[in-house]
Amino acid sequence: MGPVLDGLIKLQSVENRLRAAKAKLARCRRTVIIQENQVRSIQNALEAKREEVQLTKIQCDRLELELKTADEDIAKLRAALNSARTNKEYAALLTQLNTTKADNAKVESQILELMKDLEADESECAQMCSQIEQQKQKLEQLRTEAEVSAKKYEAEIAQVQAEWNQAARIVPRGPLEIFKRVAETYDGQAVAPIDQSEGKTASYTCGGCFMGITAECVNLLMTKDDIIRCPNCTRILVLGDAS
Ligand SMILES: [Zn+2]
Repeated sequence: MGPVLDGLIKLQSVENRLRAAKAKLARCRRTVIIQENQVRSIQNALEAKREEVQLTKIQCDRLELELKTADEDIAKLRAALNSARTNKEYAALLTQLNTTKADNAKVESQILELMKDLEADESECAQMCSQIEQQKQKLEQLRTEAEVSAKKYEAEIAQVQAEWNQAARIVPRGPLEIFKRVAETYDGQAVAPIDQSEGKTASYTCGGCFMGITAECVNLLMTKDDIIRCPNCTRILVLGDAS
């Protein structure tokens, strides 16, 4: 190896730090977005619950109206019962009266059920409102913290980026282009050290993908400063510390 490969090794170490700093910035921004989603999801649930409450109220009103009409019917039937002329007429009116009363009782218990639902839904709404308030406060706190952290991370990124530019200046254009391309493919991991395992005969593997590397490759790296890429994953191979 020589200045080109050494330069790439240095660039790789700066690249790692640059990616780590960028990841920290992304993570601190993501925390805020996750919290925003949390608030929005409770707000949506609250809206849906309120619509449900509205529908239940409409249904309640309708049933109460039904009940009122039925009560009027019952009053009419009672009056008719008093002026019934024959037993047959009386019996028929009585049956009708009892049926209407029974129907009324059903409607009444339906209304009671709905009222119970309403009460439960309304207390759920109140609970969600206070949850939203809590989560909003947490969001504000996270936003403030994230702003402070983001400034810190941005400064760190700028500093490491300057180091990166400096390290890149030493590397010739061709190898630098290869480095950038492979780094894009492997989330920043462009340079892979060759790992050596001692056995009866030494065997070598790519530190990126763990596939075997020939001894010729290792010899070439020992004697030359050429870019040799892993035949399997195309990462730029360098000699590890042990080699
Ligand atoms: Zn490989």
